[in-house]
Amino acid sequence: MRRVLLKLSGEALAGEKKTGFDEETVTRVAVQVKEILAEGIQVAIVIGGGNFWRGRTSHAIDRTKADQIGMLATVMNCIYVSEIFRSQGMRTNVMTPFAVGAFTELFSKDRAVELLEQGEVVFFAGGTGHPYFSTDTGVVLRAIEMEADEILLAKAVDGVYDSDPKTNPDARKYDSVSIDEVVEKQLGVVDGAAAVMAKENRMPMLVFGLNGENSIAKAARGVVSGTRVTV
Ligand code: UDP
Repeated sequence: MRRVLLKLSGEALAGEKKTGFDEETVTRVAVQVKEILAEGIQVAIVIGGGNFWRGRTSHAIDRTKADQIGMLATVMNCIYVSEIFRSQGMRTNVMTPFAVGAFTELFSKDRAVELLEQGEVVFFAGGTGHPYFSTDTGVVLRAIEMEADEILLAKAVDGVYDSDPKTNPDARKYDSVSIDEVVEKQLGVVDGAAAVMAKENRMPMLVFGLNGENSIAKAARGVVSGTRVTV
C-alpha cells in the first residue's frame, strides 16, 4: 500500500492572512486528502509553525526556549488541521515526540503504522522534539522511520527552480533533480540538515504548489506537476 508523508508549511495554513488559520485553505487540503484516502493511499502529515513563531528570529530569549515555543506552535497547527479533517468525516490522530498531556499521543512507529493501516490520518506534531532542528528535518526523519514511499512537499512556489523565481524572471524550473544536486547547489527544497538526511537514507520527494488545482491529490497519486527529487 502506498504511504506518503505530506508536509505543509505553517504559512500555507494562514492563506492570505500570513498568520493564524485560514479555514477555507485548510478545508481545501482536507477534501483532497479524503479523496486519496478513499483510494487506499496512507497519509501522514507534518506541519510547520511559521504562521505563529520561528525560533531563530527571536534574539531576545534563549534559542532553546524559542524553539520550544516553535514546536508548540506546530502542535497547535496539527490539532487545528486534524479537527478540520474530522469535520470532513476523516479519522485522525495527533502524535508528538514529547508529552502534551492528554492533548496528543506520544509518537510510536508501531502505533502510527497501525492507525495508517486502518485509514486514519496521523499528524506528526512537535517536529523532532529538539531545538536547532526544523519541521523539514522532522518530516524527513518521520518519513524514513515510517518507511514512507515519498515525501510530498506542498509549497507556495510550484516546484524547484535553479534560482529564486520571485526575483529572477529567467529562473528555470526542474522537472526532476537529484538529491545530490539539491545538496550540492543548496537548492532550498528543504533545509541543509534535512536534505543530507534524505540523501543518506534515499528518501524521494515531490515538490509542488499547494495552490495548484487538486495538487495534493495528484502528488499523492505520484503525478508530477512540480519537481521530482530523485535519490
Ligand atoms: N522547531 C524546532 N525543532 C523541530 C521543529 C521545529 O525547534 O524539530 C521550532 C523552530 O523554532 C522553528 C519552529 O519550530 O522555527 C517552526 O518550525 P518550522 O519548521 O516551520 O520552522 P522554519 O524552518 O519555518 O523556521
